[in-house]
Amino acid sequence: MSRPAPSVVGTGVASPSPGGAVRGCPVATVTLWGLCQRRTSVVGMAWNVVIAGGGFGGVHTAKHLARILPKHSARITLVNDTNFMLYTPLLPGAAAGTLEPRHVVVPLRETLPDGVDLLVGNVTGATPEENALFVDTIGGETKRLRYDQLVVALGSVSRTLPIPGLAEHALGLKSLPEAIQLRNHVLRNLELAESTDDPVTRRAALTFVFVGAGYAGLEGLAELQDFASEVLDLYPRARVHGMRWILVEARDRVMPEVGPSLADFAARELTARGIELRTSTTLEEVTDRTARLSDGEVVPTFTLVWTAGVKPHPVVSKLGLPLAENGRIDTSSSAAVRDTPGVWAIGDAANIPDPAAKGKRPSPPTAQHAIRQGKTVAINVAAALGTGSPVKFKYKTRGVVVDMGQRKAVAMTMNLKWRGTPAWFIARSYHLAMMPGLGRRGRLLADWNVGLLFGRDTAELGQLGHVPKLDQGEHALPIDGAKNGAGPVSAGGAPSQTADASASGDQQGS
Ligand SMILES: Cc1cc2nc3c(=O)[nH]c(=O)nc-3n(C[C@H](O)[C@H](O)[C@H](O)COP(=O)(O)OP(=O)(O)OC[C@H]3O[C@@H](n4cnc5c(N)ncnc54)[C@H](O)[C@@H]3O)c2cc1C
Repeated sequence: MSRPAPSVVGTGVASPSPGGAVRGCPVATVTLWGLCQRRTSVVGMAWNVVIAGGGFGGVHTAKHLARILPKHSARITLVNDTNFMLYTPLLPGAAAGTLEPRHVVVPLRETLPDGVDLLVGNVTGATPEENALFVDTIGGETKRLRYDQLVVALGSVSRTLPIPGLAEHALGLKSLPEAIQLRNHVLRNLELAESTDDPVTRRAALTFVFVGAGYAGLEGLAELQDFASEVLDLYPRARVHGMRWILVEARDRVMPEVGPSLADFAARELTARGIELRTSTTLEEVTDRTARLSDGEVVPTFTLVWTAGVKPHPVVSKLGLPLAENGRIDTSSSAAVRDTPGVWAIGDAANIPDPAAKGKRPSPPTAQHAIRQGKTVAINVAAALGTGSPVKFKYKTRGVVVDMGQRKAVAMTMNLKWRGTPAWFIARSYHLAMMPGLGRRGRLLADWNVGLLFGRDTAELGQLGHVPKLDQGEHALPIDGAKNGAGPVSAGGAPSQTADASASGDQQGS
C-alpha cells in the first residue's frame, strides 16, 4: 500500500505537499499562514487516523494504536453515536435487574487514552476516493473528516425476517434501552397475571417466548427466567399458575458461536430449569397475544423476544465500500478492505475470514473476535504509516463463558468444561477482568453482591421515561400507545399497550 502524504494536525483538510516539505522552508518545518514554522508537538505534520464506531473493536483499535504509534505522529479520532461503549455481554444482567444499567456501559472519555479524540456523532456516509467520512454531530452540524487511514467498526443491528407481526410485536435485546424495556415488560406481565381474573390473559402474561438461541437469546432468557423465578413468590396468584419459558431455534442446536459439546451442556442446564427448548423450529407469525411456531403450536403470549442473529449496521452500505454477500464489508485476513487503500474494517460489520475455519467462513460476530481484530488492525494501520510490520488475524476462540443468572453458568476454558457455581465464578471473574477501569469493576462487584445478599429490585420504572407535562399531571401518561406493553387490561380483556419504555426515556429512568 502506498503511503499517502500526512495532513496538518488539527485541520482535517487536504494534505500539503508529500512529506510536508514546503519549498523555501527547511526540513522539520511546516508552513502556516505562509510562514515557515518549526514542527512542534501541538501543531505539526501528522497522519489523520479515523475510527468509525466506539464499541469493542473501535475502542481496542484506538487503545492499541495510541500505544504503538510514535508520540504525536498521528491524530486519532474515534467517532461514536454515544459517549459510551456498551459492554453487551452484561446486557442480559441489566435486563434481569442484576446490574444497574449505567454499570454495563463504559464512558468513552474515561477509557480512551491520551492522544485519542472522541467525536460524538452519527456516521452517515463516506467517499473513499476522497478519503472523507461524513458525520452528523449532536449539534446538528455535518462534518467532513479527512483521513489517511480509516477503520470501520460500526457493529451490527438485529437481523429481522419478513415474519407477519414480527416488526410490530417483537422486543429486541441488542441495546441498553431494549434491555430495560424487557425487564419492565416482564415485571408488568407479572403484575398483569396477578391482577387479572381472566385465565386466558393470565396464561399469556406468564408465557415468555425467545426466538434465537445465540449468546443474546440464551443468556437473556436464562437471566430473565432466573429473575422471574426469584420474584414469583411475591405474586401469589401468578405463582399458583406457574410460568412457561420457551426458547425457539431454527438450527438443530443452541449457541452456534460455540462448539457442540458446550452447547449441549448449556441446553441441559436450561431444560433442567424447566425451560422448553424448541430446536429445528421457526417462528411463523406473531400477533399481540400469540406466537405461531412451525410445529403448529400457537402459543398464547404477550412476550416475544427476537434475538435471531445480527446484520451489519445499515450505514455500512452507505460508505461506498465493497460488501460481501452477507452484507458485511469485504475484508482480507489482515482486515484491509478489498480494493480500497487506507480503509480497514473489523468486528460485526466486517467479513474477516475466521482462522478457526481455515478462512472458509467469516469470523463469528463476537466481542472476543472484535477485540482481537482491533489489535490486528492497529498493528496494520501503524505498519501502513511506517511503524512495524503488518500481521494477519489469527485468533481462535480459547474459551467461552455463558452467564445464566445467579450462581448459574456454563464455561469452557482451555478445553475444560465448567458448570454451576464454578462456571458462574469464572464468568463473573472474566467479565470483571475485561471491564475497563477500576471504578467500573467496583460498581459491578457492588451490584452483584447487593443482588446476592438482598435479591433483585422488583420496581417497574417504565413510566420514568414519560414525564407528564406540568399542566397535565399524572393523566399525561399514555394509557395505551406504545407497542409490546402488557399493562392494565383493557375493556376487551386484552392487555392495553401501555407506556412502555421508550428508548431514551427508559435509559434515563433506569
Ligand atoms: C445481548 C448480547 C450479549 C452478547 N454476549 C457476548 C458474549 O458474552 N461474548 C462475546 O464475545 N460476544 C457477545 N456478544 C456479541 C458482541 O456484543 C459483538 O460481537 C461485539 O459488540 C461486536 O463488536 P463491534 O466493535 O463490531 O461492534 P459494537 O461493539 O456494537 O460497536 C459498534 C459501535 O458503533 C456505534 N455506531 C453504530 N452506528 C453508528 C453510526 N452510524 N455512527 C456512529 N457510531 C455508530 C455503536 O453505537 C457502537 O458503539 C453479545 C451481543 C449481545 C447483543
